Amino acid sequence: MALASKYHFASDNTAGICPEAWQGLQEANSGYHPSYGADEITARACESFRDFFETDCEVYFVFNGTAANSLSLATLCQSYHSVICGDVAHVETDECGAPEFFSNGSKLLTARTLLGKLDSLDVERLITHRKDLHYPRPRALSLSQSTELGTVYRPDEIAKLSAMAKNHGLHVHMDGARFFNALAGTTASPAEITWKAGVDVLCCGGTKLGMAVTEAVVFFDKTLALDFEYRCKQAGQLCSKMRFISAQWLRLLTDNVWQSHATRANRLARRLAEGLGSIPGVQILYPVDANAVFASFPEIIRDHLKARGWQFYNFIGGGSRLMCSWSTTDADIDAFLEDAQR
Ligand SMILES: *Cc1c(COP(=O)(O)O)cnc(C)c1O
Repeated sequence: MALASKYHFASDNTAGICPEAWQGLQEANSGYHPSYGADEITARACESFRDFFETDCEVYFVFNGTAANSLSLATLCQSYHSVICGDVAHVETDECGAPEFFSNGSKLLTARTLLGKLDSLDVERLITHRKDLHYPRPRALSLSQSTELGTVYRPDEIAKLSAMAKNHGLHVHMDGARFFNALAGTTASPAEITWKAGVDVLCCGGTKLGMAVTEAVVFFDKTLALDFEYRCKQAGQLCSKMRFISAQWLRLLTDNVWQSHATRANRLARRLAEGLGSIPGVQILYPVDANAVFASFPEIIRDHLKARGWQFYNFIGGGSRLMCSWSTTDADIDAFLEDAQR
């Protein structure tokens, strides 16, 4: 019990379901509703996305981020196409080849990243260095927002990458497993950081924000959404009791609930980084733009933290990764910092 109740910094998906998502589930749990997304709650949830992004987008719900990314990339590409992503991208390193599988073989081409971000010139070189038919033709650019290293692309950085990509005929995909933390880490509006900057399709993360089993796939370019529901169904990603997924989204997009959770997680990550940064020998590896802190600990501190029962990963980003979530408290940060200082 003691270990299970101690905050886990390993990932933001170790936390439970936030109260508002739970309330959404409760609200959806009465009476009878049409299945497979034909219900009123789902219609309202999709409408709330259109309000949120201030545009007429197509919205689909799937169970997880791997499906959201793979199915949307498969939609953008034919099997002989390629997707350009960062060398640390989740689609490349953590999806067991699902993007290649669902696209029937589109190849992922990795570009160098700096602090988790792609560089427009590097990507352009990868797109243009071959034009012949022996090279898998680049058709999509995939950006992670926030990045796997906890940094956040600004709207002008996205716009620059998108403009270059579109100039070469590529679509722009955003892996937004932590989109809301990224959004809360900037002063940009949801529209400014997505479609106004050239994003065609966004995989918008619900799970890490505090919901149970859901990610939304948002097509800003509606022509790209053609037949997407068939892909979801074929892949086993169409939920029959869709109202339980939609009700959570509706609650989280209402009254800026998303914002209070994302802002709080980001604030606590900054506090954690500031506290750790003042401990001799500890280095903060990347800017803390969202809810992730990457730290390099002397072995003695790391071993002590592990011995005290703290959970975090050491295999991502070349250091120890500490994630904050909707359920992290100031007391969790205090306790972690105290153990680190000992
Ligand atoms: C967590 C995560 C995902 C989604 O992972 P699933 O486990 O499939 O839900 C996608 N992209 C990034 C960057 C992530 O961190």
